[in-house]
Amino acid sequence: MIRLSGISFRYPYAEEGEWALKDIDMEIEDGDFVAVLGANGSGKTTLARLLNALLLPAEGSLSVDGITIDSTTKADTPDLARIRCLVGMVFQNPENQIVGDTVEKDVAFGPENLGLSYEEIEERVDDALRIMDLQSLRKRNPLSLSGGQLQRLAMAGCLALRSRYLVLDESLSMLDTEIKSEVLANLRHLNEQQKLGIILISHDISDCRYAHQIYILNKGRLALHGPASEILERKEELRSLGVRC
Ligand code: ADP
Repeated sequence: MIRLSGISFRYPYAEEGEWALKDIDMEIEDGDFVAVLGANGSGKTTLARLLNALLLPAEGSLSVDGITIDSTTKADTPDLARIRCLVGMVFQNPENQIVGDTVEKDVAFGPENLGLSYEEIEERVDDALRIMDLQSLRKRNPLSLSGGQLQRLAMAGCLALRSRYLVLDESLSMLDTEIKSEVLANLRHLNEQQKLGIILISHDISDCRYAHQIYILNKGRLALHGPASEILERKEELRSLGVRC
């Protein structure tokens, strides 16, 4: 489970009182599918980076499967690396995440850096490629893949790290409708079959079709939160909060 308790964050050099996020409470259960929506500048990317421990909260705490960090956490504590393995990230431009010159080497990169045995790495890569349906592309250069295939590759990299949660920061926004549907179907499959917790960050309500819970951010604060079926009914309110309906 991921729990954010009273999290606030302010970027260096921001004006006094200018919080990128303020007083955020969230609970993401194991195997949950959560969507986080909000207008530009509402704090979505900052939230994604906090969830993955790329940023530390200025106030409040983040707890991921019992590992808790807060403003006093030291940058060299192994807890940060543990959280980064548990909470995988897929960015808007997955080509920026590519490090290998073949699909299989790219997926192997994370487990290799964990210092695992050759057999363990091979097993993890094979598993991740199978789950993301990338076996037939394993020898291909990632730069020759389509946008949807690249997203699947980024997700496979997280699976190979045995991530238990996947944060997608506006990862669908550059995809055309057909590929977006394909990636969303992959996410639903991962959520249902692998019990992977999904945190999908977007400004477009149509990306939420499989979400169980929806959180809406507005100017760094949590404006609305509830079961997807309830939140999706409140279209006028959503529009006023800058969410495209
Ligand atoms: P979103 O992802 O919803 O567009 P962000 O998390 O990127 O929102 O930004 C939240 C707020 O923090 C905005 O006011 C933005 O201007 C500010 N911000 C984002 N990144 C930085 C940064 N690196 N330095 C200073 N301010 C930032």
